[in-house]
Amino acid sequence: MKYVSTRGGESCSSAYAIKKGLASDGGLFLPDEIPHIDKEYITKLCSLSYAERAAEVMSLFLADDYSYDELLDDCRSAYSAEKFKGGAAPIHELKDGIAVLELWHGPTAAFKDMALQIMPRLLSRSLSKTGEKRCSIILVATSGDTGKAALEGYRDIDGIKILVFYPVHGVSTVQKLQMATQKGNNVSVASIVGNFDDAQNGVKQIFADEDFAKMLDEKGYFLSSANSINWGRLVPQIVYYISAYCDLVTSGSIKLGEEINICVPTGNFGNIFAAYLAKEMGLFVNKFICASNSNNVLTDFINTGVYDRNRKFYATISPSMDILISSNLERLLRILSNEEDVREYMSSLAKNGRYEVKSQLGEKIRKEFYAGFCTEEETMATIKAVFDSDNYLIDTHTAVGLKCAKEYVKQSNDNHKMLVASTASPYKFAKDVLFSLNNEVCETELESIDRLSEVSGTDIAYPLVDIAKREVRFNPENAIEKDKMREEIVAKML
Ligand SMILES: *Cc1c(COP(=O)(O)O)cnc(C)c1O
Repeated sequence: MKYVSTRGGESCSSAYAIKKGLASDGGLFLPDEIPHIDKEYITKLCSLSYAERAAEVMSLFLADDYSYDELLDDCRSAYSAEKFKGGAAPIHELKDGIAVLELWHGPTAAFKDMALQIMPRLLSRSLSKTGEKRCSIILVATSGDTGKAALEGYRDIDGIKILVFYPVHGVSTVQKLQMATQKGNNVSVASIVGNFDDAQNGVKQIFADEDFAKMLDEKGYFLSSANSINWGRLVPQIVYYISAYCDLVTSGSIKLGEEINICVPTGNFGNIFAAYLAKEMGLFVNKFICASNSNNVLTDFINTGVYDRNRKFYATISPSMDILISSNLERLLRILSNEEDVREYMSSLAKNGRYEVKSQLGEKIRKEFYAGFCTEEETMATIKAVFDSDNYLIDTHTAVGLKCAKEYVKQSNDNHKMLVASTASPYKFAKDVLFSLNNEVCETELESIDRLSEVSGTDIAYPLVDIAKREVRFNPENAIEKDKMREEIVAKML
């Protein structure tokens, strides 16, 4: 199986695709064929543990470079009971029949752990498989969740170092503390003056700086990326949709072969695209519900065929979905059209911040995807309604998903079993969740965590227990100017 750029300019093996991240022509890697699964395969998976299911599914895509035993070894360490204390991807069924897929039981309490616990192990193996002698430096710009999950995933992995940049005033107190107290011998964290776009643009410029790359190369280093444009992050995300289907069959919620609907609260279009790939493989899915917050660029795109990022940016209470360029959409466009059209759309996006897809492509997308969005008031109301009806606590991102899922059912009368991806622990966004429940405001975000536990009668997510008492290793208040990011890399990584 080869991995080919969505823009057609490059192809390589899976190990190279994971090491490189982005193709040289600016496109994203996709396998040139999609492996097929059937009822028999799903029946076989039903009797396996999550780690075994993950190794099975990932090996369908990666077997050319990674042996099944290597994958199984890595999956067992990545998804251990010690790291995922509440199980890797358990399902909670609500009274109205909606099944919530909890993806946040990992070491940083957000769904990013599902991929970032395994991907560093894949990268580490790809370095030796491709004969790489240099040390890899992972550069991350984060608005909060990715940075912490990447630090935790890459810490103390041989041959790799990681540096995370975040906007000094752009992340929550909890997210800041999570990063400042990060353990590990190969990690560093820096805050920069400016917003998330400044951090992201700074990192992108460093990736494109050939002189800097040459200097690093001479010293035995090269740069690599950990965000969801990397195939190594997508393939582990396919697993939990197939695994959830197995669990729904095993629990008797659905019959084997019955189609389900899948709703995903969406930002960069990575998580929902992984679900779409599961369907392409043969998983029995009827419709995808793409849920956005007030930054509803995807809702408009799916409904009209026009992608237009020239619009107001909102800072919402579901910040991990505050995004106006959903990079992974490019992969869907490639599967449903061709390289030539993708190149045209992407160059128009770069030039004008906008593109319009051919009407045929728009129809194909609408056949698979329903798109909705959720305002701030609706997000808070959904958190309260679900707690009142089911005594079940959800975070702000999951609330966006649930609201859109319910709205779709009402409008369509489509009563396929609905699976909603729950992407973060409510404790990660304790302040807004607490306020949604009873309009209560605590002095600090850390107090909100304790108070939320009291009010809801639920346990604090284990990665956030005692977070205030941990040793602060990185001083986040010492923000650096954005033109000093290279100096920071040299000082902290070489
Ligand atoms: C990253 C993130 C999302 C968005 O996922 P995408 O793959 O970017 O669509 C949603 N919710 C939470 C909590 C996240 O951290």
